[in-house]
Amino acid sequence: MLKVSNLESFYGAVQVVWDVSFDVNQGEVVSIIGANGAGKTTILKSVAGLTDHKGSIRFNGREIGNLPAHKMAELGIAYVPEGRKVFPQMTVLENLRMGSFNKRARTEREESIANVLDIFPRLKERAQQYAGNLSGGEQQMLAIGRGLTSRPSLLLLDEPSLGIAPIIVDEIFATIQQLKKEITIVLVEQHVHHALAIADKGYVIEHGKIAISGTGKELQANEHVKKAYLGI
Ligand code: ATP
Repeated sequence: MLKVSNLESFYGAVQVVWDVSFDVNQGEVVSIIGANGAGKTTILKSVAGLTDHKGSIRFNGREIGNLPAHKMAELGIAYVPEGRKVFPQMTVLENLRMGSFNKRARTEREESIANVLDIFPRLKERAQQYAGNLSGGEQQMLAIGRGLTSRPSLLLLDEPSLGIAPIIVDEIFATIQQLKKEITIVLVEQHVHHALAIADKGYVIEHGKIAISGTGKELQANEHVKKAYLGI
């Protein structure tokens, strides 16, 4: 479904990702893990059309590496950025409506919103509240929900556990596992234990390059991963 080949990403003249290649098949959860500043977010942003980059990014056989970010939603790619970025002065419902702006999603907007409210009952209870008054975990659910209302087939999720209470992290990962039945997911996550537990495949990024790759299980058993990222 997604094939990234020899990706090189830049911020201005500064290169931060080197020769990254990976595949994501339909129905998979692929986790990208690594330390702070390793380049995980940048890789996701490149797929979402938000960086300068070289190399090839193919989605369902079509080269998308040169497309602007706003075209991605129409193709069925949703990017949920790190740090949630919901609209604080808008209600939960208004935020969800913003997600279904693209032509494809607009006609099914009310159905998609109802579906998101079923997936996240906490959002249903708070549907009329301002997003700025939600807890961090609820805002993260809203950010994911907003991504889902664009009716994606590929969800790019950046650090959904960042700054969130552990009990809510568990809830969010349980939801990701549910979503996986219908949507293909690329997950960038520092919470390595969770990220590998739900991953079909994983990639360890170190200094902007892929250092190790394997199935979720293989990476969980890898000595370097255990020592460097799982604290075992
Ligand atoms: P984190 O988990 O901390 O977000 P990460 O693995 O996702 O880490 P990136 O955010 O992709 O790492 O950052 C990779 C490198 O690019 C880092 O050295 C970072 O300082 C640099 N970088 C990130 N964003 C920018 C930017 N907008 N301009 C310049 N350099 C940046």
